[in-house]
Amino acid sequence: MDSLAPAASKKARLATTLIAAALTAAVVFVLALLGIYTRAAFNLASLWPANAVLLGILATYPKANSPLTWILSAVAYMAADLLTGAPLGQAALLNGTNLVGAAVGLAVVHIWSQRFFPLSRPADVVRLFLVITAASVSSGIAGGLVAGPLLGMERLDGFFLWTATEFVNFGIFLPLVMAARMIKPRKPSLDGEASGGTAEKCAALIALAGSCALMPLVGGAGSLVLHVPAFIWCSTQFKPRTSIALAGLAAMWILFAVPAGIIPLYIDHTALASHWDIASFRLGIGFLALGALAMAMINAFWLDAHDELEHRANHDFLTGLLNRRQFNKTAETVLLRQKAGTPNVALAVDIDRFKSINDTHGHPLGDQVLQTVAELLTAGLRRGDILGRLGGEEFAIVLPGAGLEEGTRVAERLREAIAAETLQHGEVAIATSVSIGLVEFHAPANLPRMLSLADEALYEAKNAGRNRVVAHKSAVLLQAAGA
Ligand code: GH3
Ligand code: MG
Ligand code: MG
Repeated sequence: MDSLAPAASKKARLATTLIAAALTAAVVFVLALLGIYTRAAFNLASLWPANAVLLGILATYPKANSPLTWILSAVAYMAADLLTGAPLGQAALLNGTNLVGAAVGLAVVHIWSQRFFPLSRPADVVRLFLVITAASVSSGIAGGLVAGPLLGMERLDGFFLWTATEFVNFGIFLPLVMAARMIKPRKPSLDGEASGGTAEKCAALIALAGSCALMPLVGGAGSLVLHVPAFIWCSTQFKPRTSIALAGLAAMWILFAVPAGIIPLYIDHTALASHWDIASFRLGIGFLALGALAMAMINAFWLDAHDELEHRANHDFLTGLLNRRQFNKTAETVLLRQKAGTPNVALAVDIDRFKSINDTHGHPLGDQVLQTVAELLTAGLRRGDILGRLGGEEFAIVLPGAGLEEGTRVAERLREAIAAETLQHGEVAIATSVSIGLVEFHAPANLPRMLSLADEALYEAKNAGRNRVVAHKSAVLLQAAGA
């Protein structure tokens, strides 16, 4: 039996390797074909996503980086070229340069090994820039030396044009793939202050599209950066991955529209006449894409920091529950949205004889009891119920839409769950209980007043012997069993 488990896991690993290699090669094949067809359609060799996407996949998903993936990807590159009629020797040379770029880029990623991911700080853009530069320069050297002459170019011209073309492609497509491990998705902000609503998102998108559409009308070298302010706006509205994709789309538009003559760079139309012109143009667009990436990452970084600070400001450090200020704010927001007359229940919860737990077992254990009670309260509530730690060993709950009967049932369930729990402290099992006071109230309501009524009921529960639920109006609804 024992030897079966490793054999099974080995099989599973082999299957993963095979699937990853096949999928990666399939992506390379499709993208290489896409590159070949756009080249044929527009007589431009500028859009070539295959190398950047291959590097992106191998760097982002290390499981995909196997010798088999490299072999199948090489076959995929060759198949795309040969199927579209390229001579064997030329296809082999061109695809050799493609693989060099991806391999060198991956080697640079591996210099930072695990620390490369997740890309989370603005400074990580610099690492990405170095990866892109290494990949494009190495591919440019191979291309310039080997394939440049094949395509009728001087070696130096070939080197610069090759490098610039790779640079813009890596700059557009590599961050898009790597964004999968870039910055953790933002938690939705409690009050949605940090990002705009749908209307602002649409406005930012329209501004971006509009400024791209303006480029052909304005013309000239300056028209190439007309979209930058709109892009910066977009990067404050969308997640980094979306911003990076938008920057990529804008860059692709420029890459296509200038050589096609849609955006006139100069009045006399001699723009992009030489290899150097084209190389300079592509390099510039590559840097624009990288600038956009930096913008998106800086934005994601501060939004992340903002969320972290907001979370810390609104939550109690020990239990993770809402603190008093945020409990009040959240409850009041929910109650304000209610139709007049909607029933609600407010609960005041207090741990019984908590001071003696602290005194007997020490403060750290008291903290553990607080955490356990917070967990049990959280587990016993539904989504939409509002729970907070008001201070010390006092908690408050609002059950929106609940009547007295349902509120009492919930309170009793919470009380029972806490009374049934024991916390092991060495040899001793520590039992704890809570007393709960509750009050039903109808919208519109004064929340502080409702909480103080629930508190009055709580003190009745304490006076009646603790470990029980009492509804306001001095009616002891449920006696704790054995209390
Ligand atoms: P009762 O049943 O009447 O509620 O008695 P009690 O002992 O629970 O109430 P009392 O208000 O006398 O004591 C509350 C204690 O809670 C006193 C305080 O030291 C302790 N406490 C407040 N905040 C914390 C905390 O964050 N951690 C710990 N361990 N103890 C805390
Ligand atoms: Mg207490
Ligand atoms: Mg108390």
